[in-house]
Amino acid sequence: MSTALGLDIGGTRIKAGIVNHAGRILKQEETGTPVSPDAFRRAVRQILDNLEIDLSLLAGVGIGCKGVIEYETTRVNFVPGHLRSLEGELLRDLVPVDLPVYADNDAKVAMAGEMVWGAARGRKDAIMLTLGTGVGGAVVANGQMLRGVGGVAGHLGHITVETDGPLCTCGNYGCLETLFSADAITVEAYRVIHSGCISSLTDKFRDCPESVTCKDVFEAAASGDSAATLIRDRAIHHLAAAISGLLHVFDPEIVILGGQIAEAGETLRRPLEEEVHWRSQRLVRRAVPVVIQEVQDRSGIVGGAALVFSAAEPA
Ligand SMILES: [Zn+2]
Repeated sequence: MSTALGLDIGGTRIKAGIVNHAGRILKQEETGTPVSPDAFRRAVRQILDNLEIDLSLLAGVGIGCKGVIEYETTRVNFVPGHLRSLEGELLRDLVPVDLPVYADNDAKVAMAGEMVWGAARGRKDAIMLTLGTGVGGAVVANGQMLRGVGGVAGHLGHITVETDGPLCTCGNYGCLETLFSADAITVEAYRVIHSGCISSLTDKFRDCPESVTCKDVFEAAASGDSAATLIRDRAIHHLAAAISGLLHVFDPEIVILGGQIAEAGETLRRPLEEEVHWRSQRLVRRAVPVVIQEVQDRSGIVGGAALVFSAAEPA
């Protein structure tokens, strides 16, 4: 039975693992993210050695990376933060093995995992949003991942939801990820604590407001804290508005939520689904399910392997 190597390039860590046809990680390794392409090549070589891979059993290598990745060539067109040294590089050149190498944006890689083993399996039209420090996204339309002309398609975090909202890293104002993301939610919580609002968050983090997390806000909201509930509901409101717009554009069978915020589970999913339904029911005329991702692995390793298997066996 063939296996694939999944590799995730994150801002601080590279994670890699051998994944079998059932989507199970058989062996994995990780290391700090190097800052130059040469150091990167050496780090991948080291990972391959540590994994003691029998290359003859590998169907290929699948890479997920932040930013704008050109799927056809594996070229990194844009990448934020200190991964910038990878811009212009072909990711396949950074993997010193004579095997097919596939690469895509990390959210599209997560969607690839859902298409092969998860909630998008057997579906022709699906949307995924990865809710973390930012918001990533992927769209499958008529059985195909949308990539656009330059690999930008699917960057759902940069939908404008407030025309004069906060400045976004992309240069626009009021993008979804400036209003719904772990960073956006913790900034709101910080304001509550800093200004001394009556809240369990203020009581708990008065001496260290910078250490409040998105999870703290969701937990405080779930236990009835009114300030935390306001922050959560306002964030969900923006996310629901964006998803409703997407339903009208893509008319999908399902909306999948991934990323660390999705771990909030039902306290996020249920109110979001309800608002998406009432906002979209007139034209869409059915309750499109909003679900949490099914692939348990959030490292990007399994998704990377899915790129390999789905390229080998197209739907
Ligand atoms: Zn933006």
